[in-house]
Amino acid sequence: TSALRRAKGRGRNMHLAYVSAAANRDPERLALELALRGALKHGEFSVHYQPRIDVDSGAPVGAEALLRWHHPHMGMISPARFIPVAEETGLIESIGEWVLRAACEQNRLWRESGLMPGRIGVNLSARQFRHADLALRVVQLLKETGLDPQHLELELTESMLMEDVDTAVATMTCLKNYGVSIAVDDFGTGYSGLSYLKRFPIDTLKIDQSFVREITSDPASAAIADAIIAMAQRLNLDVIAEGVETPEQCRLLRESGCRYMQGYLFARPVPTEDLTKLLRVGHVG
Ligand code: C2E
Ligand code: CA
Ligand code: CA
Ligand code: CA
Repeated sequence: TSALRRAKGRGRNMHLAYVSAAANRDPERLALELALRGALKHGEFSVHYQPRIDVDSGAPVGAEALLRWHHPHMGMISPARFIPVAEETGLIESIGEWVLRAACEQNRLWRESGLMPGRIGVNLSARQFRHADLALRVVQLLKETGLDPQHLELELTESMLMEDVDTAVATMTCLKNYGVSIAVDDFGTGYSGLSYLKRFPIDTLKIDQSFVREITSDPASAAIADAIIAMAQRLNLDVIAEGVETPEQCRLLRESGCRYMQGYLFARPVPTEDLTKLLRVGHVG
């Protein structure tokens, strides 16, 4: 189409670094990349929040910020599709900072109106975490938005921690000393072994959805989830089960001693106003 040709023309005129190798091979990918470039300034992003539930009380005790992209023509585009593109092109740096700012700002607003959202979890990408001045940026953002550091939890994956262990330890220690919490996302899916748990200042383990999904059908998944929960308790870490969809999954996790959960059983990721309502009510179900 002519739109595509125009897009390609523009692509050629840009500095080489601006169009990824993948986009040069794949016109669909190029279109996505170009759209992503404009998304921030056109205000196409929003943040949804999925509450973290204390299953003993049914109360929301935190929330995870999840990025949403609504493109005027392409519609909703899943983060699973555009985050890798943002990562590869470097756009994730500005997008990630936008999410962090929005989530911190919103958490402060909730507090100002007397609500108790608990900690807000924000996902960091590998590229953001690799940045030498990440800790400094986070501290600056917290100051700018006026959020107490204890109300922020950054979610990292195992592979991000293992990329450059010394730098990761330094960054995390800096954040930790400032009062920010750190969660390991998708826990149990990395190939990193367990010894790193001693070295990194971690607060929370998030049991990967894949174990939760199969907990009722696959004894191995059930055993792994159970072992993660027991280990977290021994190490004095919080543990959250992700992707809890059925009462049966919830029951088994609870029997293993898991108190904090996230999943469609309790609530989907919802727009800000909906989480505000949930916080007012104070419990799910
Ligand atoms: P994640 O961090 O593991 O987030 C959990 C994903 O599981 C979310 O998908 C959430 O909507 C989904 N989910 C929650 N409860 C359930 C459930 O009960 N069942 C099922 N099947 N799924 C559930 P989402 O929002 O599509 O995000 C996908 C991934 O994209 C995230 O995985 C995260 O890695 C990434 N992502 C999302 N927002 C951001 C962001 O702001 N920055 C970065 N760097 N990555 C993000
Ligand atoms: Ca996450
Ligand atoms: Ca996860
Ligand atoms: Ca993930």
